[in-house]
Amino acid sequence: MFEKSINAYEEAKKVIPGGVDSPVRAFNSVGGTPPFIAKGEGAYLIDIDGNKYLDFVQSWGPLIFGHCDKDIEEAVIKTAKNGLSFGAPTVLETELASEIVEMYDNIDKVRFVSSGTEATMSAIRLARGVTGKSDIIKFEGCYHGHSDSLLVQAGSGMATCGAPSSPGVPADLTKHTLLCEYNNIENLKKCFAESSDIACIIIEPIAGNMGLIPADIEFLEACRKLCDENGTLLIYDEVMSGFRASLTGASGIVRPQADIITFGKVIGAGMPVGAFASNSKIMSQLSPEGKIYQAGTLSGNPVAMAAGLTSLRKLKANPAIYDELTAKSTRLMNGLKEVATKYNIPFQTTVRGSMFGFFFCEKEPKNFKDVNNCDFKRFATFHREMIKRGFYFACSQYELGFISTVITNEDIDACINAANEIMKNL
Ligand SMILES: *Cc1c(COP(=O)(O)O)cnc(C)c1O
Repeated sequence: MFEKSINAYEEAKKVIPGGVDSPVRAFNSVGGTPPFIAKGEGAYLIDIDGNKYLDFVQSWGPLIFGHCDKDIEEAVIKTAKNGLSFGAPTVLETELASEIVEMYDNIDKVRFVSSGTEATMSAIRLARGVTGKSDIIKFEGCYHGHSDSLLVQAGSGMATCGAPSSPGVPADLTKHTLLCEYNNIENLKKCFAESSDIACIIIEPIAGNMGLIPADIEFLEACRKLCDENGTLLIYDEVMSGFRASLTGASGIVRPQADIITFGKVIGAGMPVGAFASNSKIMSQLSPEGKIYQAGTLSGNPVAMAAGLTSLRKLKANPAIYDELTAKSTRLMNGLKEVATKYNIPFQTTVRGSMFGFFFCEKEPKNFKDVNNCDFKRFATFHREMIKRGFYFACSQYELGFISTVITNEDIDACINAANEIMKNL
């Protein structure tokens, strides 16, 4: 039943490294062949063999209204008919920026880019430019895109100094990245004790790239305090949690606020968009107003702006959407937890708005090391069996799941029933 996908994968591998344009898509951690997608339809994905899946991945987050939302589709088609790109200003950029500025007390200006990677990379340059400092702090298990200084792992040298996590990244670049444990205040303090040259902390305030692990409030408060005491800027990477965890992401849920926020995913509604934003004092230092250089040929692309603008306006017009999404995420997580408990399977769940995460382990993970102690084999089997039954979960224990507005309670209950069949023998 995956025959066409298996063939397509073989063909792809001949001309594309690993057959994919982003490694996680290869299904390496769960095994098997990734279904090749023919189209999306509301809450569902349909692959080239004709299999239909309830989609909990949503293109890794962007599609909060599901596939082929009529309003977004119309806006995109209408805008595309006037030309795909001009490399000159359009009013759509101002409109989308204004929508975001209106939502946040701590944001006066927004700069658009074309991906989350670009957003965080540019936000870090801005923080370094503004502070005149070189080091950055990043947390183990947080993902901020694939730029050089963010591809770090624990090094063997100085306790907190990052080592490259990929060939091709010079150690000279990662030596400025201090790596700390998520939710570990002592570790963070140690970092500040070791360096007086820290430009910024970059953090996913709701981590979504080691499964779903929200930062403890006390931890975010410590981040804020240490930044203030040391002339360091705090960056919330809300590329995933923005417009997902709540209308204003994690920033709308926690009290400590960031100096710079990065966006991506939902802000483009499926089109390639990222953004970074801050107060006017910080943003005014960006070129052409200030000296810190940042640019992009397709930045603020009109078609992408139209998609994001339509999506954000729909969300703003109906904030109750987040209560409904939270209720559905909770229904799914509670349902799976109940099934797991019935069969004595250790199982942990977390929900933040339309984001949900689950782990096969005894106690709730608080950091990357905890996640690595979870049962990855069990997850892989669960994933494989769910795919067979038409439920498309993210293909790694390091990822999480998303609810879109078009997923119904009936869809969720069907998923819980399928999980019941699988967990019986898991
Ligand atoms: C997805 C993601 C990124 C990278 O965004 P891309 O568009 O894939 O470059 C950065 N930060 C976080 C938190 C993300 O989830």
